[in-house]
Amino acid sequence: MRTWEKNVRKVIPYTPGEQPDEPDMIKLNTNENPYPPSPRVLQAWKEMDLSAMRLYPDPTANVLVEAIAAEYKVKKEQVFVGVGSDDVLAMAFQAFFNSDQPVLFPDITYSFYDVWAELFGIPYRCPKLNENFEIVKEDYMGQNGGIVFPNPNAPTGIQMPLEDIEEIVRANQDVVVIVDEAYVDFGAQSALPLIEKYDNLLVVQTFSKSRSMAGMRIGYAFGSETLIRYLNDVKYSFNSYTMNRPSLLLGAACVADREYFQETVAKIQKTREWTKQELKRLGFEFADSKANFIFVTHPSCPAKELFEALRKRHIYVRYFAKPRIDQYLRITVGTQEEMETFIEFLEEYFDKQ
Ligand SMILES: *Cc1c(COP(=O)(O)O)cnc(C)c1O
Repeated sequence: MRTWEKNVRKVIPYTPGEQPDEPDMIKLNTNENPYPPSPRVLQAWKEMDLSAMRLYPDPTANVLVEAIAAEYKVKKEQVFVGVGSDDVLAMAFQAFFNSDQPVLFPDITYSFYDVWAELFGIPYRCPKLNENFEIVKEDYMGQNGGIVFPNPNAPTGIQMPLEDIEEIVRANQDVVVIVDEAYVDFGAQSALPLIEKYDNLLVVQTFSKSRSMAGMRIGYAFGSETLIRYLNDVKYSFNSYTMNRPSLLLGAACVADREYFQETVAKIQKTREWTKQELKRLGFEFADSKANFIFVTHPSCPAKELFEALRKRHIYVRYFAKPRIDQYLRITVGTQEEMETFIEFLEEYFDKQ
């Protein structure tokens, strides 16, 4: 090791799902939306004034913050935006998890949480999901330095009832509680109304899944005015211009098209329920996902083998070689047509076994 390497901050990075680019691929591995963004986004793109790119963007991200505040009927002082919810969550970890007590998040959850905790030197503890892969709310009632979990949880897709979330927030008013709602639009209940009651609750959402804009990198959060102010202080201490001009304009155009949003979400929900029935018929087992993915296991079929067989056919799903979940695959819900091809592949695969 060279001398300078001794003082390098060593981290084990998060591994994102692969981004292959095959013409015939069916990409069901990173929970993207299979439908394009709203036509209004495409229109705004065409109308964009490229000469304005010489100027820095608005550091307050006002057009986007206002569009989000109007759509969700909150004050703009209750909205924070960032470069994907990963950016929002990372800033929130830095801003709010600054205690000697461990931050709590489930053992099976979004695998970025422990990466940020390690990077920022935040102590953490991971209560185990129960045998049905549900979050046990009682595990979040003791002393801690903050709490974060997705609802619905990833990669399980299981939602926690809003009453249980409120119980956790109510029992933890001395720390910040973050609910990561990356998938909430696909059928779970949002904790957003609770921000009026609890000033320590941060609700994080994203344009990457239900709004078909993963490539644009837009995330946002709702919280009390005080909480949002602290978050902005950290942002302005790090990078004043996190949101670029296209993100601000296209994001605002996207939020304005509620009808298209509801339509695509409904299509995905319908295909999800169809896919669940087909998977059940083929002997797969899974919890009742409220997200745009299904987390499945098969009693007689090793997950890794199936993952590799699918991959050969350019059907990409997600496999995690991790304790407790190494016999599972996480399958994103694609278009109806893509899911029909996927099911046909499975039928042939099992016929040959
Ligand atoms: C996808 C995802 C995110 C981050 O998405 P962004 O693209 O950064 O907005 C955050 N949390 C969970 C649980 C996710 O699945």
